[in-house]
Amino acid sequence: MKLQKPKGTQDILPQDAAKWQYVEEFARKTFRKYHYGEIRTPIFEHYEVISRSVGDTTDIVTKEMYDFYDKGDRHITLRPEGTAPVVRSYVENKLFAPEVQKPVKVYYMGSMFRYERPQAGRLREFHQIGAECFGSSNPATDVEMIAMAAQFFKEIGIRNVSLQLNSLGNPDSRAAYRQALIDYLTPLKDSLSADSQRRLAENPLRVLDSKEKEDKAAVAGAPSILDYLDEDSRVYFEAVRAMLESLDIPYVINTNMVRGLDYYNHTIFEFTTDVAGSELTICAGGRYDGLVAYFGGPETPGVGFGMGLERLLLVLDKQGVELPVETGLDVYVAVLGAGANSSALELVQALRAQGFAAERDYLDRKLKAQFKSADSFGAKTLITLGESEVESGQVTVKNNQNRSEVTVSLDQIQSNFQSVFEALGF
Ligand code: ATP
Ligand code: MG
Repeated sequence: MKLQKPKGTQDILPQDAAKWQYVEEFARKTFRKYHYGEIRTPIFEHYEVISRSVGDTTDIVTKEMYDFYDKGDRHITLRPEGTAPVVRSYVENKLFAPEVQKPVKVYYMGSMFRYERPQAGRLREFHQIGAECFGSSNPATDVEMIAMAAQFFKEIGIRNVSLQLNSLGNPDSRAAYRQALIDYLTPLKDSLSADSQRRLAENPLRVLDSKEKEDKAAVAGAPSILDYLDEDSRVYFEAVRAMLESLDIPYVINTNMVRGLDYYNHTIFEFTTDVAGSELTICAGGRYDGLVAYFGGPETPGVGFGMGLERLLLVLDKQGVELPVETGLDVYVAVLGAGANSSALELVQALRAQGFAAERDYLDRKLKAQFKSADSFGAKTLITLGESEVESGQVTVKNNQNRSEVTVSLDQIQSNFQSVFEALGF
């Protein structure tokens, strides 16, 4: 019997979870400024929701899905990404209806599942924070989406983030480029990796973002998609670039960045950063104007991104960014003797009822050990409660940082600890 977590998964213990919460809350606050509301979709979906939209020939669908048949013989998959489920939900809940304000702006955060080879920043259960915007084909929306991610990275304290930008154009441009790329790569076929030889037949654009050395060499001289954009697509991309420049958001054009999912068109982007000498993508997204119609809704433009929470935390850690997580206690009650046990419980409950974070000893330990606990919990104040205090109704409340103290009645603590807390300088 294997009593260990499955390969590629993680337990997030409380100290780390505090960091996760901080990052999640930071994202919520940022997204609120851009008028995004949260959407929560199921962790599993019908297999076709993912396979048909992400693309039958993508790595995600061919190799990485956690799919199974449930007891009712339905083909189900754990979600490998957030956009397809959100689009499915958008259509199913008729958010395209005229009475729903446009654009519709939603964000999500949660687990995603991909059967991958686990390594640093690559897990089988990982977490994404993502955002999607439906109903605007204004290039300002693409730029706002990018700006929202950029503001988040900047304000949370990540440095050296690079924005890679490209355009896939509209479907006509993409088709023209696809043919040009096939013409270029076919004579080089034998030099490509086995995966890319297959991609060349099924999904040639994917050869461009292969991570294999031989493929990187082969695509170095490939034609640029930007030379195949038609007039409309070119104008659209120009507008995106001009607005990024007007907001002073630096970017680099990367024509080999095509993204691993099939549904993108026009603007695509990635935020990357260097971790220990290798480039790590922490956020990726783009425009997907055909996806809502693909799911049976009316023609509706869309744009979005997803960022990897584990990778974000990895980068924050590598860059030495200290997250100001609040874990400290307001009060620690040291308990001396069995006769004070019940009063100690009443005391911490009264403090908690007044909104304070309070903890006590439960293990009848020596006072010295209890004081150590108070220190290690970062308790701001310390109350020692023994049988004599219970009898007299008077306790000493210490400032555990500077050792100043006040003696007050238990009644006062029970009715108004705030005044005591303030008297001690908090
Ligand atoms: P990669 O090229 O690194 O495999 P991807 O193109 O498959 O990434 P997306 O599908 O665009 O990734 O997902 C968006 C973001 O989610 C990525 O930029 C990354 O930060 C994160 N991510 C993707 N797959 C994983 C994973 N297996 N483990 C942890 N984070 C991941
Ligand atoms: Mg991948």
